[in-house]
Amino acid sequence: MEILQKTKILANSGKYDSCGPKMCGVKVDSGLGGIYHAKAEHKTCRLFKTLMDNDCKFDCKYCGNANGCTKNKAKYKPKELVTIFDFLQKKLDVHGLFLSSAVSANPDKVTEEMIEAVKLLRTEKRFKGYVHFKVLPGTSYELIKQASEFSNRMSINLEAPNKIAMHELSSCKEYKTDILRRQSWISGLTKKKGVLEGGQATQLILNKLSTDKDVIKMVDWEYENFDLKRVYFSAFQPVKGTPLENEKAEPLTRQNRLYNVDFLLRQYQFKAKEFVNIMDDGMLPNEDPKLALAKANFDGAIDINEASFEELIRIPGIGPKTAQRIVSGKKIKKYEHLHELGGWINRAKPFISVDGKRQAMLGEF
Ligand code: SF4
Repeated sequence: MEILQKTKILANSGKYDSCGPKMCGVKVDSGLGGIYHAKAEHKTCRLFKTLMDNDCKFDCKYCGNANGCTKNKAKYKPKELVTIFDFLQKKLDVHGLFLSSAVSANPDKVTEEMIEAVKLLRTEKRFKGYVHFKVLPGTSYELIKQASEFSNRMSINLEAPNKIAMHELSSCKEYKTDILRRQSWISGLTKKKGVLEGGQATQLILNKLSTDKDVIKMVDWEYENFDLKRVYFSAFQPVKGTPLENEKAEPLTRQNRLYNVDFLLRQYQFKAKEFVNIMDDGMLPNEDPKLALAKANFDGAIDINEASFEELIRIPGIGPKTAQRIVSGKKIKKYEHLHELGGWINRAKPFISVDGKRQAMLGEF
């Protein structure tokens, strides 16, 4: 098979993995696919996202590359991937690689080939850009360590928030050993100076097997124990030709709500247990979680000049920077001052009083 045909097949097979910088839609029509504008830490990067191989011996029920599901099989030789990446870099200004793979043989064998490709890029082609290296379930420590030396970020997909849900999705992946143990190894490697400065990430599939409560509990545990940089969520979408092709797609609103919670955990240091109070049967309400928490927890208006930092960041429309400016002594004498400090007046109004006055009641919101 010629290399451009492989590129189309392998780029298309890699589109389901969302464990990476936010993809801002395909902006470059190379005719090959797999090229995205990705956004991370306020920087944009043109990224080539591909699999090394798309023929998997594993049986994950949701995956179009699983055993028996792949119609168009393809596999790069390491040198071929380097050639195509070099071409994309020169012609289309691609400066990042997101490399994953299906597990066609022993995970170590596939990983060795992925490492060889990335090593050639770094040494022969002197590529200094971003490399996101996907760790395959069950890969040995020595190879993960080697891969970390050539990568900026690594991830292994968690897929499910617990062993039971994982077992429903795949009979091949051992949750504790194949996934969690590998995450702990990567976590150890990220602590070394000059290695994996982009840290570790993971991805979870949202489906009917797990509640939001299960997901938030696990995400919180992962941040705490493995020092993860990011968790990405993927609302389940049925893929034709898989055992779950007739299942209903999971609403994207669920994915958005969990991203809101994730942001509050990471950036606002909210506690995972706070969200339990607003859940119904383990599921978040269908509204902005910060607003839902404020409605449930504030039984009167808060005097904005008397509130603590922790109270302020729980008021809708007020973020950590604005809260910090207020507690460091910037007095709010009228609502407009809140706007000047970076707050969002209309969202905050029902929950605050300024100078003893309150302009909108919670019920009017
Ligand atoms: S390990 Fe599972 S999710 Fe990954 S490619 Fe194979 S079947 Fe798909």
